[in-house]
Parts: sequence; C-alpha cells; structure tokens
Amino acid sequence: MKKCLVLGGGFAGLSSAVYLSKAGFKVELIEASPKLGGRAYSFTDQDNNTIIDNGQHILMGCYRETLDFFREINALDNLDFQKRLQVNFVKENFRVFPLKAFPVFYPLNLILGILNYKALKLYERLKLLSFFFKMNFHPAGSLSELSVYDWLEKENQDENIRKAFWEILCAGALNTNIRKASAKIFADILKQIFFTGRKSAAIVLPKYGLTETYCLAAQKYIKANGGEIKFTEKAEEIIFDKDKAVKVLTSKKEIEDFDFVVSALPLFALEKIAPEIKLPDGLRLTYSSILTIHIWLNENKLEKAFYGLINSKVHWIFNHSSHLTLVISDANDLVELSKEEIFEMVAAELEKFVNISSKEIKNYRVIKEKRATFIPSNYIIGRRPEAKTQFRNFFLAGDWVETGLPSTIESAVKSGKTAAQLILNSCP
Ligand SMILES: Cc1cc2nc3c(=O)[nH]c(=O)nc-3n(C[C@H](O)[C@H](O)[C@H](O)COP(=O)(O)OP(=O)(O)OC[C@H]3O[C@@H](n4cnc5c(N)ncnc54)[C@H](O)[C@@H]3O)c2cc1C
Repeated sequence: MKKCLVLGGGFAGLSSAVYLSKAGFKVELIEASPKLGGRAYSFTDQDNNTIIDNGQHILMGCYRETLDFFREINALDNLDFQKRLQVNFVKENFRVFPLKAFPVFYPLNLILGILNYKALKLYERLKLLSFFFKMNFHPAGSLSELSVYDWLEKENQDENIRKAFWEILCAGALNTNIRKASAKIFADILKQIFFTGRKSAAIVLPKYGLTETYCLAAQKYIKANGGEIKFTEKAEEIIFDKDKAVKVLTSKKEIEDFDFVVSALPLFALEKIAPEIKLPDGLRLTYSSILTIHIWLNENKLEKAFYGLINSKVHWIFNHSSHLTLVISDANDLVELSKEEIFEMVAAELEKFVNISSKEIKNYRVIKEKRATFIPSNYIIGRRPEAKTQFRNFFLAGDWVETGLPSTIESAVKSGKTAAQLILNSCP
C-alpha cells in the first residue's frame, strides 16, 4: 500500500486526504494546530456557552467540488440549501429589499429576480440586466487589465447600482473591494454563479458549527480508511534528493516511510519549510482581513436567516436566534482597531440598519482573521503555481494554488482533489 503524507488539515488537506484514502492510499495528515479546519473551524465560546465559527462561511450551489466532497464524507445533511437564491438586502431604518429568484425556469428565474429588486430604480435594474447580457460577449483577456471598478464604469453601472449590488457581491465573493479586485476573476465567478444552472446561485449554509459540519466527518472518513491524523505537529523541513522528497522533519519526528507528499499549507508556511520549490516568478500574495462580531441578544426580533446591508460598514448579519454573527469583509482598514472600538462601530450600525439598540445586547466577541483570503487582483493572474512541482512525488494544494477560482473553500477543495488525482495518475 502506497503512503502519502498530507501537510495541513484545512479544506485542501482534508480533500486530498479523503480522496487519497478513497483510492486506497495510507494517509498520514500532519497538522500544526490542535484542530482541523485551518481558516474554517468552530469552537465553544465558554462565556456564552455557544459553538461559534471563526467566521461565517457561505457556500453556493455552484460549489460543485465542495458539495461532492461533503457527499463523499457523508456530510451533505449538515448543510442547509436554499431552494432558490434569496438575499434580503437592508437599507437604513430596516427597509428590506429582497433579491429573489422566481420559481420559474432558469434563467428567467434570475431575470425576474433582478427586475423585482426594488433597492434599485427600474432603469437601474434594466442597466444591471444589460450588464449580465453583455458579459458573455467580452473577448477573453480584455478584462485582465481592468479592476471591477473600471469594468463597472465602462458598462455604466453608476454609483447606486454599485452600492446596492456590486459592492456587496464583490466583498462577499472575493473579500475585497471593487477597486482592488480583478475584473477577469470577478467575471469568472459571476459566470459560475449566474450562468451554470438553476441551483448555482442558491446559498448554502452550514447547519452547525464548522467543525461539526465537516471536520469531524472528514476525520472519521480518513480514520475509517486506515489513515492517521497527527495534531499539534508542525512540518518544519522537507529534505529533497535529486527529483524527490525523501524526508519530512516535523516538530516531533523524522518521516521517511512515504511515497508521496501533498503540501496543503498556506504559501507563507510552504516557503519556510521548502524553499527549494520553484514557484512562478513574482508570486507574491497580499491578503484581506475579515472581522467577525458575534453578538448575543436578550431577545431577537430578526426573522430572516441572514441579511446583506447596503451602504454599511457591516456587510452581512447572520441570524442564529439569540446569537447574531456580523461579518465585515475587506477589513484591512479596520483590523487594527481595538475590539471595543469595533464593537462600538458595529452596535451603531445594528441600531441604524435593523433597529437593535445597544441595550438589547448582552455580550459580544470580536474575531479578527488578518490573512483571511488572498486578494484576487490582476497581478496574481498567471502567477499561481500548478499542483505539480519539479519534485515528482511532491504536490501542492491550498486555495492559493492555480484553480481558476478566488480564495475560497471551493478553490481549496478543488486543489486538494487535483493533487490527489495527479498522485493516482502517477502510480502505475
Ligand atoms: C473569516 C473567514 C471567512 C471566510 N468566508 C468564506 C466563505 O464564506 N466562503 C468561502 O468559500 N471561503 C471563505 N473563506 C476562505 C476559506 O476559509 C479558505 O479559502 C479555505 O478555508 C482555505 O483552506 P486551505 O486548506 O487552503 O488553507 P487553510 O485553511 O489555511 O489550511 C492550512 C492548514 O495548514 C496548517 N499548517 C500551517 N503551517 C503548518 C505546518 N508547518 N505544518 C503543519 N500544518 C501547518 C494550518 O494550521 C491549517 O490548518 C473565509 C475565510 C475566513 C478566514
């Protein structure tokens, strides 16, 4: 039986480990922290006796690799699927504007949804629709020099349309703002969401904390297939000889009894332990932060599962009954504020947008993820590495590896599966 070491237990490492286990490999997964999940995990907040996520994660119907992965580990039931896209957008004073796909055939369902999106005036909705109609006719490559902002300007998407639609969508999908995001990467993701079938635009939410939603099921799957998971063990150095990795030094031991290695580490961690790996010239990732503010209320009057806020510092509110999760994407400018300052700011927005006053707030917790995602600017196009390296038994995975997708769960899962497939293909 061939043995594969998988370094890193985020979505990418787990995906690799699951697909390699499925194919009959012996897997040993080495994870530096005491838990699985990497940037997507949950834990118990002792003060409030609640399982909370390090940050709310949204999946979409178009996350095909992720949904296959959930199916494989028998965890699809841990997800809540919208029947069709519905997002309740909110302007100040709790004015709610649903953006809702209609229960008719695709793509008429989305067209009618946009035509009825009353946060925009009718002529603005028509402009938005015309943008979507025209998008498919852009010559390939013409967008890779534009930012999303440039593109929207070119297509007459004026300020109100940007604020009530594009800015929220860009922050949600790419965790960056329209001036930094690549129009090419945004166009690719819009096509995935809006042009690949009826279910693609629907939102999928974890039913439980992230660890319960997928980490435990993946762990169970790997173990049931004879694999091992080592926690609190850091990969520290990879020794290469000629065209192969021959030894992995960890904080606990030296490992030589492997046939293959998948690095599912973030770029900055890989560069430290394996500087020999040849990466594309000029590869340099910059990162966007996400702030998550958990709020506990005495009583919750919100009715919908989540809301998107128009023209607010807070992008999303997720409703878990007496506990709310507020998300601020693209938060590099706010991340150095103190937790108290962040809470004050968010409490003011809650009052202004959904009429929840500070008196109704029992407790709060702020989580800062500074390097939440890399920024999908035009600079990175063509600079992400493939899964294959110059070493024939050493492969790369991680959301930052070339997948054609931005820094998302789908990219991580896809990269992990690709690395596993390359290993399978290289075995006689
Ligand atoms: C707050 C937040 C919200 C997000 N929201 C969304 C969302 O709504 N939708 C979406 O699709 N994506 C979202 N993302 C992005 C998504 O979480 C990531 O793209 C994905 O989790 C990345 O997975 P990964 O396996 O590539 O990397 P990671 O999750 O970073 O995993 C890398 C793993 O390697 C381990 N490691 C590091 N160094 C070593 C070492 N030397 N030895 C051993 N192990 C090591 C780490 O501990 C970690 O477990 C969000 C991210 C954050 C932070």
